[in-house]
Amino acid sequence: MGVVHDRVMVEVLRGCTRGCRFCQAGVLYRPVREKKPETLARQVEEMINSTGHDEISLTSLSTADYTGVAPLVRNLLDIYGERGVNVSLPSLRLDAFSIDLAKEVQKVRKSGLTFAPEAGTQRLRDVINKNVTEQNLVDAVTSAFQNGWSSVKLYFMIGLPTETYEDLDGIADMAKKVVQIGYQSGVPRGRLKVTVSTSSFVPKSHTAFQWEPQDSLEQLKEKQKYLKEKLRDKRISYNWHDPGTSFLEAVFAKGDRRLGMVLEDAWARGARFDGWSEHFKFRLWLEAFEEQGLDPKWYAYRPIDYGEVLPWDHIEAGVSKKFLIREHKKAMGSLPTMDCRSGQCPGCGLCPTMEMKPDILGGAEIAPIPGEV
Ligand code: SF4
Repeated sequence: MGVVHDRVMVEVLRGCTRGCRFCQAGVLYRPVREKKPETLARQVEEMINSTGHDEISLTSLSTADYTGVAPLVRNLLDIYGERGVNVSLPSLRLDAFSIDLAKEVQKVRKSGLTFAPEAGTQRLRDVINKNVTEQNLVDAVTSAFQNGWSSVKLYFMIGLPTETYEDLDGIADMAKKVVQIGYQSGVPRGRLKVTVSTSSFVPKSHTAFQWEPQDSLEQLKEKQKYLKEKLRDKRISYNWHDPGTSFLEAVFAKGDRRLGMVLEDAWARGARFDGWSEHFKFRLWLEAFEEQGLDPKWYAYRPIDYGEVLPWDHIEAGVSKKFLIREHKKAMGSLPTMDCRSGQCPGCGLCPTMEMKPDILGGAEIAPIPGEV
């Protein structure tokens, strides 16, 4: 029987400096710290020898950002390629450099490539601080198609703060543009496949969007229906996440300790393996909320004031609330924030508080702003 994660997993770096405003991991794992190449070489060797796996996966929040990623991949392929061991990169950036990397690791079997523009318009990408442009997408997919890939998956979120139907049109336009680029790049008609996948935005604690409400179930269903219509094209397939699961995620992501009773109650009613759609029984959860006298909508749909004490305020993640408020205000004005790899510290407050600093191999020394906490 095949099992998941049946491969050697080495974490090449921890943290991510890109600052996407919806991302909780990007806050919790700061500052960015890259592992030394010799440490990685030793760990891979030990794991390959003691497990017999035939794949090495280079993991992190953004592996293409690892300073020496290209020589690392080449070295691993040189050493382990002849032993029949593959290298895989679970996350790619939207640029031609990432395609070059993917080319190295997928020389023979060109499985699909996944890109995450996250939002359909530049305006909304600026709101979430996803600093990629349409031109980046065009360059990346052109390079992918020209290098032999015929299947591309695009990942977006719907229900993001300030989203309008124009942003949804942007998703459909992007998908159609990718189809056109595929044809222009010579991908045979029958082989070209573009998959659009949308998940629903879940506001998370410790992020700039922790004060934001989630779209209602009705709004999310309406948006999914709209996109289904817009993406009606035999070369494009459209997948979406169940909005009921996303609703529960929002409730628990922004919830308080009273939800412990709901969890136990839902479990006692038989809720199991809820992440699998065939096992997800939304009704059981609604019954559990009712039994415990709690309204899940109050958790998921309520905009929160900056001044309100939040249920997770006592959990010190290092990043200051002042910074998150500033980020939230910048989001509302579609203003981007620099990546701390650029050498300029946007002042999230973590480094002075935790007495740490980013550790980027051979990279620019970043001087965290003192007194920004
Ligand atoms: S304090 Fe500055 S350098 Fe340190 S993680 Fe925050 S933004 Fe990056």
